Amino acid sequence: MIRYGELSTKGKNIKLFIQQLAKNIRSALQAHPKVKIHGQKDRMYLILNGEPSQIIIEKLRPIFGIQTFSPVVKVDKQLEKIYQAAAELVASEYVPGQSFKVNAKRADRAFELDTIGLNREVGHAVICAIPEIEVKMKQPDIELRVEIRHDAAYLSVATIKGAGGLPVGSSGKGMLMLSGGIDSPVAGYLAMKRGVEIEAVHFYSPPYTSEQALNKAKELTVKLTPYVGSIQFITVPFTEIQEAIKENVPSGYLMTITRRFMMRLTDLIREKRGGLAIINGESLGQVASQTLESMTAINEVTTTPVIRPVITMDKLEIIDLAEKIDTFDLAVLPFEDCCTIFAPPQPKTKPKLEKVLEYEKRLDVDDLIQRAFDGMVFEKIQTGDYFLTSGQQEFEDLL
Ligand code: ATP
Ligand code: MG
Repeated sequence: MIRYGELSTKGKNIKLFIQQLAKNIRSALQAHPKVKIHGQKDRMYLILNGEPSQIIIEKLRPIFGIQTFSPVVKVDKQLEKIYQAAAELVASEYVPGQSFKVNAKRADRAFELDTIGLNREVGHAVICAIPEIEVKMKQPDIELRVEIRHDAAYLSVATIKGAGGLPVGSSGKGMLMLSGGIDSPVAGYLAMKRGVEIEAVHFYSPPYTSEQALNKAKELTVKLTPYVGSIQFITVPFTEIQEAIKENVPSGYLMTITRRFMMRLTDLIREKRGGLAIINGESLGQVASQTLESMTAINEVTTTPVIRPVITMDKLEIIDLAEKIDTFDLAVLPFEDCCTIFAPPQPKTKPKLEKVLEYEKRLDVDDLIQRAFDGMVFEKIQTGDYFLTSGQQEFEDLL
């Protein structure tokens, strides 16, 4: 039994939210085709049909849009059957010395016992089966939930915390600018948590950056897939643009203009793929490109909403989250990405837009964009995919 939490407050959209959640669960449980999903207005039920509950529980934990969930036993609405299921369920959890209470709910008003009667009678049945068990109203070790619904009675003894948030896809699609660093995977995770489906856009500059740097970005994408099942990864060749900028633009403006190209390309890809937003890992004041003046100059190329989930977070807060979603160790692997290689020694922290526009006139912007766009490569990345093969091993051997 899955409880939606925040979803329940979404009014008219609720149907779409539930459909999206069901779709995401279906995709996360691909390996368990026997599971049946029934989405109702206030709850969702997965009928396991013999599929292993422990494995399914683990796969449900990261899915956004689930507030809490409980393994549940479903029985006919007959008191004897309810008593028996209650006694068995509590016995399966009970360790000598523990306490319990019954928490009954009744959606079916016509049922023969009301909640007070249910609490008392089901409690009595449990005590008959386990005479030494203690009854405790406040913070019992075991809380037996009994719900009398219209179709059947549902009993459960554990409530597992879900990932919260909104089902991925229910807020539309956004393009995540994914580098190989710490911040952008966290930004992607947080955007997904609020229901945004992401496609990862990665700029790479061979031969200045290695195949391993590209693989690292893909591997980071793998870490984001448990929340959705699979993620479209889009590689954009960026070498020609970086060389053209390096040749024609004074070094203080390299970074600003490079970022503007990334932003333009990401926006073009977004438009072609039906996205509504751009997501990046910028954090205010972290580096020269992330001052408000810089962001203003970079953001000038588009009016598309740019979501910056980690903008106000401290580096340590971002690292905490990166550790939680297991992207940190990968992110700190020392493979150069395209920006570090071309990074000027002293980028302007307060670039002037007139200057930016003047320097960009030296470049054939449209042509460069078009060629990078034409060189895009698509790859669908799934949980369990593996990209960092020998290189990572070598790196580990060095430690
Ligand atoms: P990150 O830890 O995400 O790499 P960062 O602190 O290193 O971020 P920058 O290198 O200034 O910051 O990059 C800012 C943002 O620009 C990144 O968070 C990411 O969203 C985007 N970005 C940078 N490099 C790339 C790249 N090679 N491909 C795609 N997006 C990139
Ligand atoms: Mg970076």
